[in-house]
Amino acid sequence: MERLHIAFFGPPNSGKSTLVNTLAGQEVSLVSPVPGTTTDPVRKAIELPGLGPCVLIDTAGLDDAGVLGPERSRLTRRILDETDLAVVLDPVIPSLMGELERAGIPVVRYARGQSRESLLEQLAAAAPGEQEKYLTGNLVKAGDKVLLVMPQDSEAPKGRLILPQVQVLRELLDRGCVPVCCTPESLPAALKDMTPNLVITDSQVFKLVNQTIPPEWPLTSFSILLAAMKGDIRAFVEGAGAIGRLKDGDHVLIAEACTHVPDTEDIGRVKIPVLLRRKAAVSIDIAAGNDFPEDLSPYSLIIHCGACVAGGALVRSRIRKALLAGVPITNYGIAIARLQGMLERVSLP
Ligand code: SF4
Repeated sequence: MERLHIAFFGPPNSGKSTLVNTLAGQEVSLVSPVPGTTTDPVRKAIELPGLGPCVLIDTAGLDDAGVLGPERSRLTRRILDETDLAVVLDPVIPSLMGELERAGIPVVRYARGQSRESLLEQLAAAAPGEQEKYLTGNLVKAGDKVLLVMPQDSEAPKGRLILPQVQVLRELLDRGCVPVCCTPESLPAALKDMTPNLVITDSQVFKLVNQTIPPEWPLTSFSILLAAMKGDIRAFVEGAGAIGRLKDGDHVLIAEACTHVPDTEDIGRVKIPVLLRRKAAVSIDIAAGNDFPEDLSPYSLIIHCGACVAGGALVRSRIRKALLAGVPITNYGIAIARLQGMLERVSLP
């Protein structure tokens, strides 16, 4: 289940940080009587009654008259890209309301003195229903055996699984499925004892897994499941068509939703560029975290990461920007499947 991203907007010192702390039941943001204390957005992942897993985003004050005002306002407006639900505090800023309306973001108005319970009720009523969507969609049903192929190579964090793997595993358990996990090395041993209803693999070993399992078994990847949950899988599949049209000198943007420390086997910075350059001598730019460019016109293709730590609103807003600029956009999992000639083979949720 995807986390609902709830952002709090208002002028400096309108009580946003106090409200976030009250909702969270703990001090998330610095509260100060000095106007404009919150300069960078502060995020807190939390479970809220009636809403489930959420991320609360405390934003910098809008329309600040101080030196940092314009920069704070720019940062706050970037937050719109990842917002599923906005809480707007008094006094309301008309230009903000216009932007929220244009972005199609549902708004809850909060007035000073309103109780936590009453605000939670309002939020639950206004929240878009999509966080109920399942990553595995209609690909599984209760009782299905699902084989998860999860490389634990140098790119994998020490001592834990990465978020998409954890999310899918938990979801399969919730849905009454029987998940079985293996690494690419232990895949042959796993296959001795089971005929899975679905195989979900890390994109990096797509080809190997495809060569190892019978062609009639449904196969998909963690990236593809995330793409379907957080973006627009049809737009991504269509965007992947641009890979076949790339020519020498074209510019490709690799867009990452976070600023993780890249690894020598990094999928976006190493593996996808190697595969792309087998097709054409393209020039590749990387945009990490919030550095998604305003001007997309130089690019022939954008390849977005799985956005495991971001909300669907961020990815959908980037898809919208790309399509408005006339630039095809796809994501890691779809791009790798296309680059390896297996896009026809994969099951889409
Ligand atoms: S948000 Fe994107 S770049 Fe960051 S770890 Fe997740 S998939 Fe990788």
